Amino acid sequence: MQDTRDRIRCIVCEEERVKGIRVLDEFICETCEKEIVNTEVEDQKYPHFVLQLRNIWLNSQRRGL
Ligand SMILES: [Zn+2]
Repeated sequence: MQDTRDRIRCIVCEEERVKGIRVLDEFICETCEKEIVNTEVEDQKYPHFVLQLRNIWLNSQRRGL
């Protein structure tokens, strides 16, 4: 049974998830949100998260928010 209701694509992992947070018009799933919070700056994953988040801010600025 396929139920895609309330599923939104996470901008970090690009999976479609139900639970998560919205940042401006974008969505970050619960899993990635926790990872971002728990990721140390020295962590290899950190640059990826920062890049994805940067894209959110850049997109929102382009929209003139
Ligand atoms: Zn995610």
